[in-house]
Amino acid sequence: MANFPFAEIRTPGNGVRRKVPQLFHTPSIRNPEPMLNPADVEARIERFPHQCRDAGLKVTHQRIAIYGMLVSTGRHPTPEEVYSEIRTQLPSISLATVYKVLDQFCQHGFLRKVLTETQVARYDANLSPHHHLVCSACGTILDVKTEGAMEGLSVSAENGFRVSHYDVIFHGQCAACLETSRP
Ligand SMILES: [Zn+2]
Ligand SMILES: [Zn+2]
Repeated sequence: MANFPFAEIRTPGNGVRRKVPQLFHTPSIRNPEPMLNPADVEARIERFPHQCRDAGLKVTHQRIAIYGMLVSTGRHPTPEEVYSEIRTQLPSISLATVYKVLDQFCQHGFLRKVLTETQVARYDANLSPHHHLVCSACGTILDVKTEGAMEGLSVSAENGFRVSHYDVIFHGQCAACLETSRP
């Protein structure tokens, strides 16, 4: 596990050292901040090896690196984006392996897949209830926090339908694209 690039950051005040993955340091409109706060990210990374063992998956550098990347970004990357980022840390990894790991993570509920109009899978490690804003110009996906996640779905009970999960996507244009398209 020592290979995975964690930065040790000393928090001002209490002197607690935080280990934060070094992969996504520069939030921007195209690389949004994760909705999870750094403490949640750290807790989830620490929990990850246990989750793997519970799911019967071996704890490997590849799995740790991919999970660490996804849990610390808010940008909902495609498999190719995961691959090009992870390759800088683990040069021998293949795109096929990245696909396989992402698939396994979804099967075990470690990630959710966000399906947009493009049919290109985008992956999200934030499992707390939220909706998505998808920019039809640049493909940026932003999280929207939701309170009381299932409002409006009580009708499903009347149909005898039990909802297991849901996907809500708001389509439109992000602030950056609106800015550049302005005359
Ligand atoms: Zn955009
Ligand atoms: Zn999301």
